[in-house]
Amino acid sequence: MILVSACLLGQRVRYDGRHSYSEVALGLAGGEPVLALCPEVLGGLGVPRPPARFVGARFGREGQDLLDGRARLLDGQGRDLSPAFVAGARAVLALAQEQGVRLALLKDRSPSCAWDPQGLNPDGGPGLGVLAALLQAAGIELREVRAAAR
Ligand code: SF4
Repeated sequence: MILVSACLLGQRVRYDGRHSYSEVALGLAGGEPVLALCPEVLGGLGVPRPPARFVGARFGREGQDLLDGRARLLDGQGRDLSPAFVAGARAVLALAQEQGVRLALLKDRSPSCAWDPQGLNPDGGPGLGVLAALLQAAGIELREVRAAAR
């Protein structure tokens, strides 16, 4: 079973109500059964929702810093959305473990899903999203998929 960021499979769950459909993600899944989930929706943040940015986090450890209480995710008005991000990521991890997920294909530049620990993405973004941090700690293999909004 492969976990895939739901927006990569065409679900309109992004903060701006769009999706990030990716043929690359489908190709990487290779016909294996997929579990398509959005941690931010599962955390109750809704669609659309305000974009959020990390505050107080170190690059490449953003999601882990948040889980450790060293950083927060704030929207543009300074509201702390961290609890919802953490709840959604934990819900996805629980479902992934229940379903025996071995690999996660994660959308880039997302505070939840990003996994770019060496900062190689020319478009920037976090190095480690909240969900990516939990999945990594659980021993699930991660791949980042670069995809634009549609
Ligand atoms: S990148 Fe992750 S959190 Fe953002 S819309 Fe896609 S699945 Fe949801």
